[in-house]
Amino acid sequence: MKALTLTADWAPRPEYALTDIERQTRKIRNGCMVWKNPRISVGDCPDPTPKDDEVVIQVAAVGICGSDMHMYEAGEDGYMLYPGLTRFPNILGHEFAGRVMETGKAVRDLKVGDLVAVEEIQWCGECASCRRGFVNHCDNLEELGFTTPGAMAQYVSVRARYCWKLDELADRLGDEREALVMGAMVEPTGVSYHAMFNRLHTWQPGAYVVVFGAGPIGLAAEALAVAAGASQVIVFDTSASRREIASRLGATQVLDPTGLNLNEVLLDLTYGRGVDFVVEAAGAPEHTLTPLTQSLAVNGTITVIGLAGRPVPVSLVHYQQRGVQLAGSLGHAGHGTFMNVIRMMASGKLDLRPMVSARMPLDDAPSAFKRLESREDAKIILLPN
Ligand SMILES: [Zn+2]
Ligand SMILES: [Zn+2]
Repeated sequence: MKALTLTADWAPRPEYALTDIERQTRKIRNGCMVWKNPRISVGDCPDPTPKDDEVVIQVAAVGICGSDMHMYEAGEDGYMLYPGLTRFPNILGHEFAGRVMETGKAVRDLKVGDLVAVEEIQWCGECASCRRGFVNHCDNLEELGFTTPGAMAQYVSVRARYCWKLDELADRLGDEREALVMGAMVEPTGVSYHAMFNRLHTWQPGAYVVVFGAGPIGLAAEALAVAAGASQVIVFDTSASRREIASRLGATQVLDPTGLNLNEVLLDLTYGRGVDFVVEAAGAPEHTLTPLTQSLAVNGTITVIGLAGRPVPVSLVHYQQRGVQLAGSLGHAGHGTFMNVIRMMASGKLDLRPMVSARMPLDDAPSAFKRLESREDAKIILLPN
């Protein structure tokens, strides 16, 4: 089959303390400390065969994510930008939907022909974190398209337990191809849903919500806030094209943060009361955390989704005086998140079609990655079959 593979050189930075397990497995907690000179190419790979609990999926649509970009991009010193769990060489791609082609012997709930979206978080179900319900923080975590072969390929084999059927979405859209493209948006939208409703859900219909960063995760967060009844959804991004998409998705205010006094602007827009809920999806907390904290209403929350490798100084006095909180969020698995996102899409309450700026064949993936370097597009979808 055809697939897009990312290769990188093993070059641990001297200051990075590799664990024995990292050395043995080459599964690295913080990719930007080890992998150098990342490069991608489309070529031939062996077809996958399903283990007993797996299904083989013919990939219909796979999105290119900010994380894919950060694995593909390197800093001036040649090291990959992505600061998370990784193992290379590997087939990229983790935001996808497709059709079940083959089922392993032990698979009960899926059959050939089913349309599914798939969780990227490959939780084990057996460790203490999984058994306590925190599957996104599985102690034996593998991530599809990061540490195991991903979906920028014609076929991918995944455990049936990570699949969620798209029949309701296909039914209500009346178009299987469209349902599969939207199905590829369930994973990134699930990341936003998890941060907004499963972590510290301190806001209610009527609340003032700020989304900082209108990349795909921020745009999905915006659409979820609108659907869930926020009375104001204020979105910040430096890109004019992304601000335009944010306007189409129903934000009440869309602003370029460049040169703005964020705290002043936000207090002004919220009648001096402050913001109830902030989604940090820009990965730029060194610029945003202090002014956004100062703009919080009493009992407000900042949820951090954007990954930033460097530490950020935080003044805690405001957290105490205003009784506000900061929540980190990672992942999209468990808690019925995929199911609820699919239902919201099927109902028409969550229409993310304005986010899809291009659909391209897998062969054009290298030029799609190149095009995304400017961060003008919201989401490019690859069609591998
Ligand atoms: Zn992603
Ligand atoms: Zn686990």
